[in-house]
Amino acid sequence: MKKLIQIYTGGVSGRNISTQQIAQKLGVLENSRIDGIIVGWSLEHQIYRWLRDYTKERGIELYLWFQVLSEFKGLGNFKAVESLHGKPLQSAVFDGDEEFSFYCPSHPDTCRALLNIYETYFSEIAFDGVFLDRIRFPSPGSDSNALFSCTCPYCMEKLAKTGIGTADIEEARRQIQEDMKKGAVFNIREYKDGKYSFYSGQLEAYLSARTDLITGIVKTLSEYFREKGLKVGLDLFAPFLAVFVGQDYKELSGVADFIKPMLYRHTYTPAGMQYELEGMACGRAGDMKQIVGMEDGGLTDFMEKELRTAQMLAVCDVYAGMEVHTAKGLPLVETRAVREGVELTEKMKCVGRVASWNILETSGENLLAFMEEGKRTI
Ligand SMILES: [Zn+2]
Repeated sequence: MKKLIQIYTGGVSGRNISTQQIAQKLGVLENSRIDGIIVGWSLEHQIYRWLRDYTKERGIELYLWFQVLSEFKGLGNFKAVESLHGKPLQSAVFDGDEEFSFYCPSHPDTCRALLNIYETYFSEIAFDGVFLDRIRFPSPGSDSNALFSCTCPYCMEKLAKTGIGTADIEEARRQIQEDMKKGAVFNIREYKDGKYSFYSGQLEAYLSARTDLITGIVKTLSEYFREKGLKVGLDLFAPFLAVFVGQDYKELSGVADFIKPMLYRHTYTPAGMQYELEGMACGRAGDMKQIVGMEDGGLTDFMEKELRTAQMLAVCDVYAGMEVHTAKGLPLVETRAVREGVELTEKMKCVGRVASWNILETSGENLLAFMEEGKRTI
């Protein structure tokens, strides 16, 4: 099984991380076989150059961790996503320098600005691939209005081609609100095989059409990078969350070399499975857990279900994303928990697994547990 690790060097302004610090952490893994390193997204060239030499010597692939629809606001002409009636969306900063304000995927300037950022700041480094992150709309876990973005003229024009207009989105929103009052969750009828069915046909059609907007920009970027001989990996929300942020596993995996579903069981932070569910369903979280089959507690069984779903939906390799640390101040991810995740990925015969999301913040014990082959006890 392939084992990849992620190194977060900070947002565009960096975290003043030295190559010695990285070398020291990688030293823990000297006797382990690493297949890939995903690193980003500060603009500090010396880190990438040092890692390129390090990985070349050892036959390790090096991926640029590249943010698509957030984080680079100051570097390009990006338009923020618009929600119904111009309601502003909450934008959050997380962990000091991660920035969760999102821009429109359909505006022609978005793609142009992203390619310009890549060419200006990163193209000189001989990466083996790019790992595209934040390929989504803002999460309804942080703001319920996020589900009704982006409604800018560029997005509405694309949605109109599938017969969706503003009135349909308004109706979908009204139905969800009404349902929540009655005790239903997001109008969901059923969640099966990674797909939701909704009582409201309009909501189902809208959410499905909306995924095309995200697929569109990922397709364009993927073609661009592949033409340059780079591999493409994608960071995705767990399958049960995907449709709510505009991600379609089948379509996206069709334009990628691998996908990494973020099957985070412990971290109560963005992309954490429980964090996102409780954020979006609020008072109805218990009902939604029942619908998707999430048990309270360790979430290892739920990870297994979601991993199986990802494997079933994807048409490319699936590397399970498992967290080996969490944000400061939250309960630590224990080594026992890392081991459980490792055993699960081995049992499920995953093509790969990814130590997320920053090995610089985890313990040597957790890293070594991540690299070990599972004992197949579960
Ligand atoms: Zn838009």
